[in-house]
Amino acid sequence: MTTDTASKETRGFQSEVNQLLDLVINSLYSHREIFLRELVSNASDAIDKLKFLALTNEGLYESDAESIVDIEFDTAAKTITVRDNGIGMTREEVVDHLGTIARSGTKEFFGKLSGDAKQDSQLIGQFGVGFYAAFIVADRVTVNSRRAGTAPDAGVRWESDGKGEFTVETIARPSRGTEVILHLKDDALEFANGWRLRDLVKRYSDHISTPIRMKKEGKDETGTETVNHATALWTRAKQEISDDDYKAFYKHVSHDFEDPMAWVHTKSEGKLEYTTLFYIPGRAPFDLFDRDSARGVKLYVQRVFIMEDAEQLLPRYLRFIRGIVDTRDLPLNVSRELLQRNKAIDTIRGASIKKILGMIEDLAGGENYGSFWQAFGRVLKEGVIEDGANRDRIAKLLRFASTKLDQAEHTVSLEDYKSRMVDGQTAIYFLTAENHLTAKNSPHLEIFREKGLEVLLLTDPVDEWLVSHLTEFDGTPLKSVLHGQLELPGASTEEGKDEQAEDEHAALVGRIKTALGEKVKDVRSSRRLTHSPACLVSEDFDMSANLARILKASGQEVPATTRILEVNAGHPLVTHLADEADEDRFKAWTSILFEQAVLAEGGRLEDPAGFVHRVNELVLDLAKAARPG
Ligand code: ADP
Repeated sequence: MTTDTASKETRGFQSEVNQLLDLVINSLYSHREIFLRELVSNASDAIDKLKFLALTNEGLYESDAESIVDIEFDTAAKTITVRDNGIGMTREEVVDHLGTIARSGTKEFFGKLSGDAKQDSQLIGQFGVGFYAAFIVADRVTVNSRRAGTAPDAGVRWESDGKGEFTVETIARPSRGTEVILHLKDDALEFANGWRLRDLVKRYSDHISTPIRMKKEGKDETGTETVNHATALWTRAKQEISDDDYKAFYKHVSHDFEDPMAWVHTKSEGKLEYTTLFYIPGRAPFDLFDRDSARGVKLYVQRVFIMEDAEQLLPRYLRFIRGIVDTRDLPLNVSRELLQRNKAIDTIRGASIKKILGMIEDLAGGENYGSFWQAFGRVLKEGVIEDGANRDRIAKLLRFASTKLDQAEHTVSLEDYKSRMVDGQTAIYFLTAENHLTAKNSPHLEIFREKGLEVLLLTDPVDEWLVSHLTEFDGTPLKSVLHGQLELPGASTEEGKDEQAEDEHAALVGRIKTALGEKVKDVRSSRRLTHSPACLVSEDFDMSANLARILKASGQEVPATTRILEVNAGHPLVTHLADEADEDRFKAWTSILFEQAVLAEGGRLEDPAGFVHRVNELVLDLAKAARPG
């Protein structure tokens, strides 16, 4: 490698690029034609960027303000060229952009690859391949580029056969922008054909607002013609836009390969004039759970692309939405700072949220909602926490697992739940736990099962925050089955019996409490349990053990809270305890009772080895006692 930037140097691809190239070449053979869409998409982005920068620096146009994408082919030379007069790249940019992958989600993507071509080709569609798609049809790719506004001798040539290395050299290049020359593989020569290329442009790139030009076909024809629609898709009348047009545009804005799940296109011509086109992707992107990941809505002002990932356009909990906002009511030189205190943007944002929630509500009525919920439900839940104004609307869209379902499906809405509430039931009950199995088998559910009361089983970490913000739904409070004293419907007849039992066991309960000491806040006779000997409950306003676990796992300090041990007075283990005269043995038994309760809710023991030791001692005692003679 040489440090003299004027001369030619050979450099290696970042290892992820090599991996991606292998994947692209091996798994996208049956979708080879996408190379054109990807290159035209990049060309169009480059033109958008130039137009934006030229708003404040006219000089960048270099006296050629007409934006064009040219597609040429040469059957004799076996090449296809895609050329734009957009922003172009400097030598450093070429090395950076065409030698590395800096996209968010890259790490997650490569972590998910299995090595199985078929499986991985599904994933790669989700990740997107961009420029590297060139190597599906080309065994050598040459890129000539010059950044707008730089000297004519500051051009750069990049060249690679896609096998680990590329070269860069500085060249003279009078015109700004980028040209990508594909040296076609022998089995890809079919693409060096005017009709084929026109057809592909129509199919995949018709929505590109820049004219895409090709040489006229026909013997006596000279000159070029525009082969796409060449107007921004969202400005066209809705009835003129086909589903395929919408889908193709989605692939362009989102860099996704798959079709979107749904979209909503709105033109507003009231006090404010704006157009929005929002899409729900077919699948979750790799970085969905990174709350700082880029949001996918682009801002245009009077059809000029202004910025990507404009935070002010949509709240974080809608970060999975892709699309565009185009308005006349912002200045062309609008900055991110200006957006933060702009009335027009606030209005557009409010209306956009409503449109998107409406689109999700439409989905909620149909068959696809399961896949929507699986992909984006966890993120939508953040909306209950963040967006007080729309909380009730979002709450209706939530889906949960429940004790009424056999499987860990998340299909129960709060409305479903309410419609099934039994006579006298005053609350929507839920249980939070680390996972479905722990939740489903929790001793806290025993009395609910017996009384036929449904309990929602919440196992997403975000659920703990969700329930702290969603304290009621449609007038009915949400109540944790892990907290406080329970007042359940239909309990009155047993109440007297329970109280009597409590009296009887008051002495035992007192003994257990003394034996456990600091470990518990209190010990009481339980109304929750029918089968298990004991469980732990929190006081109404104390943090649940699950939340404490989540916070600890994320490295936060959690104040130690002790909890209440509830014992099932009718359980043989507990009645046996009452007869235990040996204080040491009594202590060991109560310890086990407490530790079981911790384990049953998925908690961690402070002294697991001590627990094992105590259990073994007791088992041995029992074994000795059972031995004949
Ligand atoms: P993506 O477009 O998803 O960012 P690509 O691999 O297609 O990924 O391209 C990587 C980067 O290379 C782009 O983000 C852009 O900065 C640059 N690039 C690609 N094609 C062009 C082009 N025609 N003009 C200017 N820059 C380009």
